[in-house]
Amino acid sequence: MRLWTKRKRGSRRQRSTDFAGTVVKCVFLVAIFFFCWLAAAETSAFRLRSAPEKEPLVPEEAGKLFQSKKVAVYVVKKGDRLTDLARRFYGDPEKTWMIEEANELVSLEPGQVLVIPLLTSNPGGLSADGYQVVPIITYHHFSEKCTNALCMPVEEFARQMAMLAEEGYRTVTMKEVLRFINYQQPLPRKTVAITIDDGYRSVYELVYPILKRYNFKATLFIYTDFIDNSPNALSWEQLRELTEAGFEVESHTITHADLTLKRKGESQAEYLKRIRRELRIPRELIRKHLRQEAVWLAYPYGRWNKLVISMAIEEGYRGGVTVTRGATPFFVDPFRVGRNQVMNPMKGHAFEQLVKYFHGEVLQ
Ligand SMILES: [Zn+2]
Repeated sequence: MRLWTKRKRGSRRQRSTDFAGTVVKCVFLVAIFFFCWLAAAETSAFRLRSAPEKEPLVPEEAGKLFQSKKVAVYVVKKGDRLTDLARRFYGDPEKTWMIEEANELVSLEPGQVLVIPLLTSNPGGLSADGYQVVPIITYHHFSEKCTNALCMPVEEFARQMAMLAEEGYRTVTMKEVLRFINYQQPLPRKTVAITIDDGYRSVYELVYPILKRYNFKATLFIYTDFIDNSPNALSWEQLRELTEAGFEVESHTITHADLTLKRKGESQAEYLKRIRRELRIPRELIRKHLRQEAVWLAYPYGRWNKLVISMAIEEGYRGGVTVTRGATPFFVDPFRVGRNQVMNPMKGHAFEQLVKYFHGEVLQ
């Protein structure tokens, strides 16, 4: 459209027609401008600038304020429970600790603003002043009255579990420890893995009720020849009940033989065949009776060598535990994971030393 044309000299009538045309064009331009302004006023940016301020949120109505891929901001409503929030944001009611640790929570109050981390962060538990370690404690059997160091008096065990609960520890199974050492899953800062070796019936009769009291779980390392084969041993039926309650069952071989020792008169080929069986059968039995996939091996007497480890890897194991003391950082060799045996007698302070969960060290 040509708005301005070169004025040519012409008749008076001609000039008057030109003037009228220019006025019409100007009115047309103003109309377009006004139309554009109206359209702009309708855009969201314009609306946001001109919108009145919202009323402040009240706790009953607040809930989720914001969510990105990394984080959600949530205002606690009346009646909210941490387990519900963990289920809602993580699909897992047991992950309350992620909310608790991110907010240094002591209690949950309506109106409180929570930051809820949504991405897995710091799976190895590293910080500037050190790193997380997971204490793995080990028991064997339990009794009202004990006569040896590997038997834990049940009252003493109850006191130890009460102390863990009071101190805010959470228990994890060895499969969770495996994900931690594979740098796949962060664990609560105060974490302990309870392991119980061999498969004594006292685990079911004396220990299970105590663990249940605190919602604790344990990992049992069983040698399968013992199961269902002695009045002192657990049955597969009892093991099934324990696994249904969240316990985990892992391998401690078939016969509890020292895997590093060749028998007298045994050829190398016979020895290898026997060890392979010791490693393979427990996994098959655990799968058959309990529908669990055993991935950990507890070396009988804590004895291992490179041959045993390489055969365990070939048989599908993903980690091995010893009885060497020390808590576990994420960078441990998964086939040489140490455990702290809880011996009898062991009281108060000595037990606290066994469940240390942080290794202080200035990292550079
Ligand atoms: Zn054992």
